[in-house]
Amino acid sequence: MGASTLLTGCGDANTLRAEFPLLAAAPELHYLDSAATSQIHRSALDAVLHHETTSRANVARGTYRLAEAADLAFENARRTTARFLNATSADEIVFTSGATASLNLVAHAFGNTLQAGDRVLISVAEHHSNFVPWQMLRDRIGIELALIPVRADGQLDLARLPELMGSRCRLLALTHCSNVTGARTDVAAVVAAARQAGARVLLDGAQAVQHGPQDVRALGVDFYAFSGHKCFGPGGIGVLWGRHELLAAMPPFLGGGGMIGGVTPALSTWAPPPQRFEAGTPPIAQAIGLAAALEWMLGLPWPQIHAREDSLCRQLIEGLRAISDLRLLGPDAAVSRAPIISFEMPGLHPHDICQVLDTHGLALRGGHHCAQPLLAALGVESCSRASIALYNDAADIEALLSALDAARRELT
Ligand code: PMP
Repeated sequence: MGASTLLTGCGDANTLRAEFPLLAAAPELHYLDSAATSQIHRSALDAVLHHETTSRANVARGTYRLAEAADLAFENARRTTARFLNATSADEIVFTSGATASLNLVAHAFGNTLQAGDRVLISVAEHHSNFVPWQMLRDRIGIELALIPVRADGQLDLARLPELMGSRCRLLALTHCSNVTGARTDVAAVVAAARQAGARVLLDGAQAVQHGPQDVRALGVDFYAFSGHKCFGPGGIGVLWGRHELLAAMPPFLGGGGMIGGVTPALSTWAPPPQRFEAGTPPIAQAIGLAAALEWMLGLPWPQIHAREDSLCRQLIEGLRAISDLRLLGPDAAVSRAPIISFEMPGLHPHDICQVLDTHGLALRGGHHCAQPLLAALGVESCSRASIALYNDAADIEALLSALDAARRELT
């Protein structure tokens, strides 16, 4: 850990890239798909291997030393995650299998505290993971589901917020940052409106976390969800942060071992949070690996990294603008946005574009990006997406821009 912190002290992309085993082994790869999955940092891999080879045992059950070591490592992972989010206490951290599971957890457990006619407000820009669970809740208990529209550049149109919230809005469940357009949600405006109406705020942080530690207290939200595989950690692990008093007032989502106070043939009682929401054996090694990645992130020079991500984002947007016929989606480079850049080249299918790009060593994603309502609102069926993370550099952007030229020549 110490060596890694020293190495990354300068935040230089090449130094950082060398800390990612897959990227280090593939110097020719231009990986521009971190919005789908970031590469895993060496510290996370090391932590998983260390745990699996020195302290693998189930948690919260054993009294032997090996099990105690596993318990300690798992609960330390919870503490590190709490620090990453600046949560008040580690008891506010629920480990799940991913952002999707975290969002479904809120839709079920918080959802079960709602009544028919209560309103949940989401936006057109949501990933299906923060769309479908609310439609399911609507169909299950009869809540009203309302949608914040987007402007032409993909930013949420918050002007109609009070009207859309109505008098019975209980929750605003919104993306922190769009996985298609990179548009960031104006969280302060949302939280202010929610507080006035006595509503809660859930942020889907899946796309925000790879761009640095978050401060849930400063954000002023009530729930925050993210996945480990998008912030340099292992797959199969996610986080739900919730204010403790809210978690404590929610019924469980899944039933099973580990989440009970007691069980009789007639009834069961629940453990306090976070265990109430962690039925069954949790993803132990994955949580430990995630915590190593988050610890590493906590030591990074974020102002420098943000400056480089922003400049790569500008470089790409300017380069794409120079390509005739190409339609850029999302906010202008001057707007505070995440470095996720989607574009459409009329007449060329994104799958074909991405296949040609692959032959040039570029990894990009094309399709609807699990955001069909957003794409429909922006008037496109599918698009290609480049997403930039801390290990990318100008050479990745230059490679993309010249390969796009080649793709057009090959495909037309
Ligand atoms: N929300 C957003 C904004 C996302 O980009 C994603 C992943 N693409 C998710 C939620 C779901 O994350 P996961 O598939 O890791 O559960």
